[in-house]
Amino acid sequence: MVSENICYTDAYARQADAVVVETDPDAHAVLLDRSVFYPGGGGQPADTGQLVGDAGGSWRVIGAKKRGDDIWHTIAEGEELPAVDTQVTAELDWGRRHQLMRTHSALHVLCGVVWRDHQASVTGGNMDPLSGRMDFEFETMSGDLVGEIERRVNEEVAADREIRVAILPRDEAFAIPDLIRTKINLLPEGISEVRTIEIVGLDLQADGGTHVAHTGEIGRVKVTGYESKGRINKRIRIEVLDA
Ligand SMILES: [Zn+2]
Repeated sequence: MVSENICYTDAYARQADAVVVETDPDAHAVLLDRSVFYPGGGGQPADTGQLVGDAGGSWRVIGAKKRGDDIWHTIAEGEELPAVDTQVTAELDWGRRHQLMRTHSALHVLCGVVWRDHQASVTGGNMDPLSGRMDFEFETMSGDLVGEIERRVNEEVAADREIRVAILPRDEAFAIPDLIRTKINLLPEGISEVRTIEIVGLDLQADGGTHVAHTGEIGRVKVTGYESKGRINKRIRIEVLDA
């Protein structure tokens, strides 16, 4: 069974009518025929939300996880799992998800600016709603640069650049220099398609996450800290604020 995973093509889908197709009592999780939940990955945490039964009942979804191509929904402890064939509306905690979309897109703007202006590449990152961090191979990073990076990032936010999602055949993706730089070569063997996120005119990355449609929707970005993790490796922390 492969569930229809709507989050990868429509980040703004907040809910979906779905049917429970399988349950896993050990993981206290259910598989639906379609899902709007993001299962976590690439530094973006999994969504939370709820399932509301068409014939009554509701179940709190405290997380989601990918198994193969299926997204499984973890149900809160102490709640009895819905039976197979139960018809539900699956709803995201949209406020939290939208904050994560703004934060994830803000981190990509940061990557794009740091690459464009300093040719420093990303080695990792992580986020919570409205805050995040990115690690760079960035030998020349210094406290003096923080203000300039913050200013450049907010210029790109204010430019309201379009953010596009695409799913490319592997060979086509591997022919794009920008994707090589963002360590596309670390993608597992056997993947036939690569999902990309493009901030038009600024940044292109292989990425599984959910993003806002335009950079203006991010709001405002504040660089809240910078740490040296060695001579070359530097960490930049951000917060995302309302515009
Ligand atoms: Zn990302």
